[in-house]
Amino acid sequence: MPMAQTLISDLWLSLHRLVSGARYLRTKLTILYAGLFGLILIFVSLAVYSAISTAVQSQIRSELVASGTVFDRIWLLRTNQLRQGASLLARDFGFRDAVASGDKATIASATENLRERLGVELAFIVGVDGSVVSADPVRLGSADKPLLNALYAADMPSGVFVIQDVAYQVVAMPILSPDLAGWVVFAIRLDDSEMKDLAGLSAIPIVASVAYQDRGFWVLTGSKRSDVYANWSRVLNQALANDGKVPITVSAPDGVEITLIKQLPSLAANDHSALILTYEMALALAPYRPLLATLTLTSLLGLILVVVGSWGLARGVTRPISLLDQAVGRLQRGEEAYVQIRGHDEIGRLADNFNQMVIEIRAREARITHLASHDAETGLGNRLTLEDSISRRLNSGQVFVAAVGINRFDHVRGAIGYTLAAQAVREIGERLAAGVPHCVVGRLSTDILGLVFQEPTLAEAEVVVSRLLLQTEHPLVVNGDEIDVALTVGLSQGYQAGSVHSGIEQANIALDQARARRSKIATFDQVAYGDPASNLALMSGMLTALKSGDMSLFYQPKFDLRGRQINAVEGLVRWRHPVRGMLAPDLFIPMAEETSHIRALTDWVLDRAIEDQIAMSRAGHVLDISINVSGRLLGDHDFAELVERTLPHAVGKLCFEITETAVIENPELGLEILDRFRAAGVEISIDDFGSGLSSLAYLKQIKGHELKIDKSLIVEIVESQRDALIVRSTIDLAHSLGMKVTAEGVENAKVFQILAALGCDNVQGYFIAEPKSLANLLLMLDDPKQLVAMNS
Ligand code: C2E
Ligand code: CA
Ligand code: CA
Repeated sequence: MPMAQTLISDLWLSLHRLVSGARYLRTKLTILYAGLFGLILIFVSLAVYSAISTAVQSQIRSELVASGTVFDRIWLLRTNQLRQGASLLARDFGFRDAVASGDKATIASATENLRERLGVELAFIVGVDGSVVSADPVRLGSADKPLLNALYAADMPSGVFVIQDVAYQVVAMPILSPDLAGWVVFAIRLDDSEMKDLAGLSAIPIVASVAYQDRGFWVLTGSKRSDVYANWSRVLNQALANDGKVPITVSAPDGVEITLIKQLPSLAANDHSALILTYEMALALAPYRPLLATLTLTSLLGLILVVVGSWGLARGVTRPISLLDQAVGRLQRGEEAYVQIRGHDEIGRLADNFNQMVIEIRAREARITHLASHDAETGLGNRLTLEDSISRRLNSGQVFVAAVGINRFDHVRGAIGYTLAAQAVREIGERLAAGVPHCVVGRLSTDILGLVFQEPTLAEAEVVVSRLLLQTEHPLVVNGDEIDVALTVGLSQGYQAGSVHSGIEQANIALDQARARRSKIATFDQVAYGDPASNLALMSGMLTALKSGDMSLFYQPKFDLRGRQINAVEGLVRWRHPVRGMLAPDLFIPMAEETSHIRALTDWVLDRAIEDQIAMSRAGHVLDISINVSGRLLGDHDFAELVERTLPHAVGKLCFEITETAVIENPELGLEILDRFRAAGVEISIDDFGSGLSSLAYLKQIKGHELKIDKSLIVEIVESQRDALIVRSTIDLAHSLGMKVTAEGVENAKVFQILAALGCDNVQGYFIAEPKSLANLLLMLDDPKQLVAMNS
């Protein structure tokens, strides 16, 4: 039973390992059901087997004990029979006489006679001296002395005795005539056939054999050979102590045997002998074998049924779970994750909740995706939408990005409020979308909309954008009020250097470039943009240039149309970079403004202009000098102080060119600083008029001395009636406000003449002269032929 216990606990452990190792719930359940059933079957089989074998054993035991008793009787019966025969002979007068006279022939024939009648193997007479007389010669060998001893030891000795390695049942009877004259001895051979006869008397098929002690060693006879049975001596000694009352279990080479060992009387008192009755368990269990086989077979069939059944059952139970499991996987991968499980149990409810959750997650995802790709304020697409659109169009021809900047958006928003401004942006976005077929519109920043579209070439893209501006730039009605729409566009190839991202960036830069050049449209100019990283280094280079002499101030003459002479110049910085060569102010001035290096530059320009004015006057030319003052400095009291300190050193008039935008950005402070400039004796010129924002209100407040009409209006004056009209009304307006008018960008005689006819005061431009170094300016001023063209 302990063996069965360890077997079951081992099986239980392996079952547990299998169950916890299984990947699928249905495998787990199947293993568990089948395993438990199997364990129960094994347990039941073991119990049945052990019950049967216990019952069989006890049956055999009692049978053996009964056989042992029968054998005792038979033994006794035979002993008595032999004794009777022997005493018959021993008491016969004739025989006694023959013994007394030593008539061997008579003795032998009488003995032989009786031997045959009794059917025993040996019959002989032993004399008191140990001599043996018989019909056949009997060889006692080394048994003669022990035999004589035994005969002397008892009155009627009987028992097992071994002669020449053969065990015999021996009975002896003394011959008294009247003194002891010898013994009649009968012996029955205890061989296999004798034992078989004996065993045949038992109700069950037992095997009987005899064991005897020879000089202290046990010897087995018949089929039980001593060399086959290990430890036989020990078993016999122990069993004899019990004296055949309790059968024992012996493991023999052919299987387990139940054995009863009984002591047999021995002729020689100090030698032992035993009867061994054996029954093989296998034989005893044989009738039960079909039963056990049926049990095993039924168990196996049952096990198979349980495996199949529990597999099916487990599948049924776990199918919804694995459906849910798969659905979760699909949900993770973003695929359709609906599960179809009907039922009113927990799993059915779980599936319903799961489906509901999937719907909500999807809705949330859609909301998040929409939020991620749309501008919350206007509902237009955003940068992501544009990037996505660019990457989706990459394989279908040229893609372009237009960054459409809404001019003066801050002001519009300040005037109408955030909500209406957002509405305005949305409407502009809608106009843009309607203007270009198959385009995508998105908001890039507060006042910049992006447009992604496709055209075969850049030239065609530019045409599309120009047309779009004409279509879009008409006033917008928001909340009943009209708002002017003024746009600037930066254009770039949608896909730049491996990144859709940089296409949008370049469109933004192009927009900045357009605004810097005060043009409506600009295509991204890589050369003008330079390398942003090296641009930063440029600023520290600029400070060095101011000291080293790489920076110089050029002068562009202004021609006085009434006085027919050059009466003023505009100072324009020139930087000869040691590595990059001549750098345009458009490249480094905006950067200097952003990084506040503009102050150092302007200080330097102011000094330079005052010094050069002195040089000019020494050369005999007294000229007004205009310098450009960035809007950034209109908030700088420190700069105003510097101006107040420096200006007394000037020998002529100084004029600051500022843009209207600069004042509009911070009107209060701007106007205050301008007042300080004016108070210091500086004239104020409004630069770039007509290029961007214009506000009549500020124009009045600035109280400038001069208005410079931007070259973008002047260049078109010949072709465009509208521009001519604007220029004329601007001149009239400026005059009515007490300002002189300078037109810049005059490149040819025709423009020159029109301006003269329109009553413009001064002109400036390549037609008169390009910006020149001080030396070249003086050369020009000294040479009156230079002005012939203007005066003709
Ligand atoms: P701006 O004040 O409008 O200067 C006039 C620009 O027009 C100059 O460009 C000049 O070379 C150019 N120009 C002159 N005549 C003609 C013409 O007939 N046709 C055309 N198409 N262009 C003509 P430049 O020198 O490259 O200067 C560009 C801008 O850089 C200037 O525009 C000004 O805003 C800024 N800038 C130049 N020097 C300074 C400075 O010392 N300080 C500041 N703050 N800005 C400066
Ligand atoms: Ca200027
Ligand atoms: Ca200008």
